Amino acid sequence: MKEKKQIIVMKFGGTSIADAPRIKKVAARAIDAKLAGKNVVVVVSAMGDATDRLIDLAKSVCSEPPRREMDMLLSTGEQVSIALLAMAIKENGHECISLTGEQAGFITDDSYSNAKILHIKSDRLLKELKSGKIVVVAGFQGKNIHNDITTLGRGGSDTTAVGLASALKAKYCEIYTDVDGVYSTDPNLVSEAVKLKSLSYDEMMELASSGAKVLHLRAVEFAKKHNVILHVRSSFNDKEGTWVMDDFNKDDKMERPVITAVTYDLNQVKISVFELEDRPGVAADLFGSFAARNINIDLIVQNVSEKNLAAISFTIKNEDLPQGKKVLEELGQKHAEIDTAIAKVSIIGAGMQTHPGVAARMFGVLADRKINIEMISTSSIRISCVVRKSKAKEAVKALHSGFGLKV
Ligand code: ADP
Ligand code: ASP
Ligand code: MG
Repeated sequence: MKEKKQIIVMKFGGTSIADAPRIKKVAARAIDAKLAGKNVVVVVSAMGDATDRLIDLAKSVCSEPPRREMDMLLSTGEQVSIALLAMAIKENGHECISLTGEQAGFITDDSYSNAKILHIKSDRLLKELKSGKIVVVAGFQGKNIHNDITTLGRGGSDTTAVGLASALKAKYCEIYTDVDGVYSTDPNLVSEAVKLKSLSYDEMMELASSGAKVLHLRAVEFAKKHNVILHVRSSFNDKEGTWVMDDFNKDDKMERPVITAVTYDLNQVKISVFELEDRPGVAADLFGSFAARNINIDLIVQNVSEKNLAAISFTIKNEDLPQGKKVLEELGQKHAEIDTAIAKVSIIGAGMQTHPGVAARMFGVLADRKINIEMISTSSIRISCVVRKSKAKEAVKALHSGFGLKV
């Protein structure tokens, strides 16, 4: 019986296809995979900083662009990339077709600008693969039940790729980017950062949710849920990258280091609400109103109440601030303060579950640098601190060397 060809999903980010020479290089990689006997699906992002430029353009004509129109606009960035890449592949004599998110079968909910994938109808894609074509799919987009274009949130092309790898039962999903893999911290900030050979889905989820933008958080969640192995690697060389999968160190007799990585997130704002009544239900009302506007809350601190009044501070993403201000207005909150000069630094590692004293060590490293900690939050494998934005990079470097992560 004829053996079924293996399907491979390759995703290329914005920098990897920023100009014509790079698009030609991506075309060559896709063709190489095809010549190696694979069924090839390529997912691409918008070229370079095209998405940022489209956002600026929207803001220059409208103070608060409607989300539906924003998705209509931003989806065009990926469409430019798929058409150009398909042309470059055909130029080299290989059959190829470009598909938008909708054509590739991505059905999403209708939360414009942050839509969730509900279903992937992959029959069209499978038909094109069967006819021998390389299929190039626009990342970051889908269609909702109203037939409108939706986008999956910034960095969402990773999620498109993982979704396809799962729907098509690909062996693994290759994420090609502008660094050689996932590092112990952002290699563009700390030159001593070390490339990780592999890490677990849980660790990668903590990295992604605490600021390491190398992988979209929802892509990792999706990969964990559907058991898709991820290989994060460079689009500029052939080196092996970083594997993200479960149980990679199951048979590893070596002790894992206490900390795997350090991250930072400059995209946070702190909101403090004062003079709240100290009674059951106040926090539920406050955060319920934010949830109703689809705003995610990150760190939360409630202060000791004075005269029966409480104060709650919490952080949200920068881009949610306009909506957040509306919530405060609706609640008639006159005693609220907004602080945009903050950042979150985090240490992550499965090893901290078995090593006591990690938090004390982290706070000690920050204290040595006279970096004040304003808020703290923890999970079983992460500790995060809010610090002044101006101190964030110094904090990352100090923690990276303080925990002995450098080469
Ligand atoms: P792409 O356009 O390929 O999707 P991104 O810009 O979204 O690429 O993600 C890659 C970037 O993530 C790198 O250039 C790097 O600066 C940043 N980054 C932050 N933390 C890490 C980390 N721990 N490991 C690798 N890259 C990181
Ligand atoms: N182009 C989109 C963005 O810049 C999606 C992506 O690159 O993954 O966020
Ligand atoms: Mg990205």
